[in-house]
Amino acid sequence: MPIVDSHSHLCFEHFSTDLKETLQRARDAGVIGFVNVGTDPVTTSLCFKLAEAEPDIFPTAGIHPNDAATTSEEDWATVEAFARHPRCVGIGETGLDWFRSGDARDVQKAAFRRQLDWAHRLDLPVVIHCRDAHEDTYAILEDLGRPVRGVMHCFSGTPDDADRAVALGLHVSYAGPVSYKKNDVLRASLARVPEDRLLVETDCPFLPPEGFRGKRNEPSYLSVTLDAIARTLGRGPRDVATMTARNAINLFRLPITPP
Ligand SMILES: [Zn+2]
Repeated sequence: MPIVDSHSHLCFEHFSTDLKETLQRARDAGVIGFVNVGTDPVTTSLCFKLAEAEPDIFPTAGIHPNDAATTSEEDWATVEAFARHPRCVGIGETGLDWFRSGDARDVQKAAFRRQLDWAHRLDLPVVIHCRDAHEDTYAILEDLGRPVRGVMHCFSGTPDDADRAVALGLHVSYAGPVSYKKNDVLRASLARVPEDRLLVETDCPFLPPEGFRGKRNEPSYLSVTLDAIARTLGRGPRDVATMTARNAINLFRLPITPP
């Protein structure tokens, strides 16, 4: 079945020894496109380098909230240059993380606003990371006073949080945790996301789906996540794969033929 991984980190060192094989397994499993997300100047530059060799890998440029406090103005300039690169499909990941870096709140908020501004000016979707920070994240987005083209990546909120994201115009992307047995609240949020706003992702190497927990995640495992979504929605996995692939192609304006 045709799958687009809307959020991966294929340039993290976790894949340094077997990226080729990992990509082959993913393509064999049906993955037709990978959005490969930058988190700082180094990973952003690696994402663009990889995209030169692999036409189905699409890079983004961004500074992760957990890196915001250690980012120099020179680093910002480097990432902004990649944001303007013709192959750039999105800005981020950016956002707020009160779980891992709760002490750098003002810096994270400023970094988030700066990247929201890039996304708006460059007409690119924004990739939003939000961990234990839903209220503050939505406050910043709602404060913009306009719809936001982008995605709540690895959505981890309640059904009401999903409503807020959808009202802002955002897409909502689900990763491995939607397949975890205890995550009924997260699965309940699926019903609040319109079909044309739903995305699926690995966030690899992190957050493997049920059955692979404790291992390195990779895009060939996406069928498990798609199965969990499909069961919850009462749909077939192939339908959900096709639908989410089309949505990712639309949101990121990926130059691939929709399935
Ligand atoms: Zn990520």
